[in-house]
Order: sequence, then C-alpha cells, then structure tokens
Amino acid sequence: MLLRHTTAEVKEREGLTINPAKTCQPIGALYAALGIHGCLPHSHGSQGCCAYHRSMLTRHFKEPVMAATSSFTEGASVFGGQANLLQAINNIFTIYEPDVIAVHSTCLSETIGDDLQQIVTKAKDEGKVPEGKFVIHASTPSFVGSHVTGYSNMVAAMATQFAESTGEKNGQINIVAGWMEPSDMREIKRLSKELGAKILLFPDMTDVLDTPQTGKFDMYPKGGVTVPQMKSLGDAECSISLGTYTAEAGAIALDKKHKVPFESLDIPIGIDATDRFMMALAKAAGVEIPEEVTRERGRLVDMLTDMQQYFHGKKVAIYGDPDHIIPLTEFLVSLDMKPVHIVSGTPGKRIEQRLREILAETVPNANVKNGPQADLFLLHQWIKNEPVDLLIGNSHGKFIARDEDIPFIRFGFPIVDRVGHSYFPNVGYTGSMRIVEKILGVLMDRQDRDAPDEKFELVM
Ligand code: SF4
Repeated sequence: MLLRHTTAEVKEREGLTINPAKTCQPIGALYAALGIHGCLPHSHGSQGCCAYHRSMLTRHFKEPVMAATSSFTEGASVFGGQANLLQAINNIFTIYEPDVIAVHSTCLSETIGDDLQQIVTKAKDEGKVPEGKFVIHASTPSFVGSHVTGYSNMVAAMATQFAESTGEKNGQINIVAGWMEPSDMREIKRLSKELGAKILLFPDMTDVLDTPQTGKFDMYPKGGVTVPQMKSLGDAECSISLGTYTAEAGAIALDKKHKVPFESLDIPIGIDATDRFMMALAKAAGVEIPEEVTRERGRLVDMLTDMQQYFHGKKVAIYGDPDHIIPLTEFLVSLDMKPVHIVSGTPGKRIEQRLREILAETVPNANVKNGPQADLFLLHQWIKNEPVDLLIGNSHGKFIARDEDIPFIRFGFPIVDRVGHSYFPNVGYTGSMRIVEKILGVLMDRQDRDAPDEKFELVM
C-alpha cells in the first residue's frame, strides 16, 4: 500500500496539488523544438530545470535528448539573465553549430522578467547569430499551464517566427502536429501518402527520437522539419491542426499572419477521430479516400465487432493531457465502455465541457475535472468510492493500479517504466487496433488470474 494515506473522503482543496496529472511548461517546449531539423533547444534558466526536462524526455523516449541552458547562478537570478543568454547563443553557434536555437523561458527567468524577444534581437544586432542561422523563442512560465501549454507555445513560435508568404500558394496542406509520439507522426504521414495529399507536418519528431541504431551519435539526427520547409508554411493552401490544446495555436498563428485557413481537429485516436481527420484531409486535398484506407478501417471495425462483448459496461478511469484523453474517451464510449473518472492537470475551460458532451448519453454522472487540483490523489479517491475495471494513463498511475489492484494501460506522457511504446502508433486505424488489443489483453489477463480452477478457460 504505497498510497495508504489516500482517503476515500473527498474534500474541496485550494492551493494544494497532490501527485499532479501534468508536468512543467518547458518540457513541452523542449519536445516541440526537437521537431525542428538541426535545432538545439535552449532553456533560459538554471541548470536544474534543464537537467530535469532533458531527463524526463530521455527516460520516456530512451534516446539522448540534447538541450543547452543559460545556467543561471545567484547573479543572474538577481540582475537578470541577459548576459548569460547572449553568451550562450555565441557559445552554442560557435561550438555546437546548430541551424536553429529554440529558446524557452523557465519559472525563474519569467519571475525576473527577462524579455526573450529583446535579448534575441540584441544577440542579432551584436552579430552573435551567424548568417543563415536562427534563434526563435517562446515564453513558457511553468507557474501557469502545463507541459501542454509549453508545447503549444513553442509550436506557435515556430509558425510565427519562421513562416513567410511570397504571395503564391504552394499547394501544400500544413498539418500542425499536437503532442504525439514520433510513431504517431510517422503514421499520420503514411496515411497522408496513401491519400496522395501534399502535406507538411510540423513539428516532426520522426527520425529524431526514434532513430535507428547506427553505432554513432548524431547531435542533429536526420529528421525534423527544416527551416525552408517552415518558411513555406505561410504559402500553404490550408492547415489542419491535430490537437486543440497543443496544435491549434500554431494554425491560428498562420491564419492570423498569413491568411492560411485552418480546421481544428482532435488527434486521430479512435475510429471517429480518425474518420474526421481522413475526411478533412481528403477534402482539403480534393481526393477520394482510397480503397486501401477503407479496407484498413474495415479491419478495425471487424476487430471491434469481435471484441465488443468483452468491453461492454467496463468502468474506466483516465488521466492525462486533454488532446489525448478527449479522443480516447470518445473511443472508449464507442466501444460501450464507461469512463467514470477523468482528470487532467492542464487548465482550460473547454476541456470538461467537451468531455461532458462526449459522456452525456452514456455516463452523464461521470466525475470529470481539470486544472491544478485535478490530480492523481483526487482520481485515487474517486476510484476508492467507485472502483473501476481499468486505469489508463502515464507511468505515475502505476501506484494507484497496484494499491487498488486495477488492470493498467500506459498511455500518454511520461512513460518511464516501459520500453518500446514510442515505436508503435496510437493514432489512425492501425493505432486504434493497438489500443483495443492492449485493453482486451489486460482485461482478459485479469479474468484468467481471478478465475477459479473450474472456470479457467482455454478458449475465451
Ligand atoms: S517547474 Fe519551473 S523551476 Fe521547476 S523545473 Fe519547471 S521551469 Fe524549472
């Protein structure tokens, strides 16, 4: 009983978060920046922040994650970090030779009031940014929002600070990628190729955080969206953003500055969200859905038909990021499952409303909460009051799963106690197959484990 102090009695709390269902803004900004080719992310703050952000991403992806830091000491903390950042920009371009430095702020530099835009302009004016090299910046104060906000802010910075319009449309559809695994991005690109749609996905972590083993270290792996590609974003026909909370801000920025119209969709997790994405992409590209994609969908439907009897009425508790839990909840409802408890540490007025709309018909009394006090402690309390058949979320939930003896599926970020999850997609029809196969696996393992000898079946 690792969480033995969790009580069943739920009390209103303010100003206290216990086991948050989120992490800090710069982690999201750092992750998004890794989707730029030849980019060295830079943390404007103290070394401890940068070490934490790098280590969380490294532990999740099991890949080396590079980032630089302004290395604040007492002096910078009192007088501001401008001198540190100017020195850092000079050192980084001289020693590590990236194409782009993507600077994000931290709690400390935001509290001091450092103005990243002013410092980056000063660096350019002083000749510290070589010709053909770039420094972009995003404000990511971690005392508000979450890693989701930080990702969104860096994606918007990419769109705002790189995109250009020449006045000539280039026939491209921008796909603004919300927080997904590299494998998910690879799957989005594969589906787009099947359709014959000319897309540019950004940010793009494929071949950055899922690189093949070659025996040698590449500081800047082959993947990532290049600077010329990001400049072309402003000439696109339209954008499709995948993820209201992590991608939409990038699409809005392109619309505002370059009049690129956009459609905002969920990350295509589950059959309905994937259908919406495929239809929107086909419409934008002016093509029909090809036979092969229809057959792929048909295989998922066949699989769901075989499985549905086992899912019916099963109660689920979910926690994580809004762009993951919203389409996942919709998918589980379509499987006849009952998501009865849902939390997300990320604030946002529309999150609970969207979830309640999805749950309105089947689980109208579900416990749903988001924001700072929507933490794993509260989720655990809810579970004590109404037990569930399945728990879905990142690695932090394993303690609840163990204490309450609940089948557990790891999903979202961070997953730091398993290996390989980032190589298999959760999006699209193929990803949906993987999700249901995993769910059924743990439900049936549980049934096998609990069955008395006379009910222990070979064929289930
Ligand atoms: S919460 Fe703030 S101080 Fe803590 S690691 Fe994140 S940026 Fe640094």
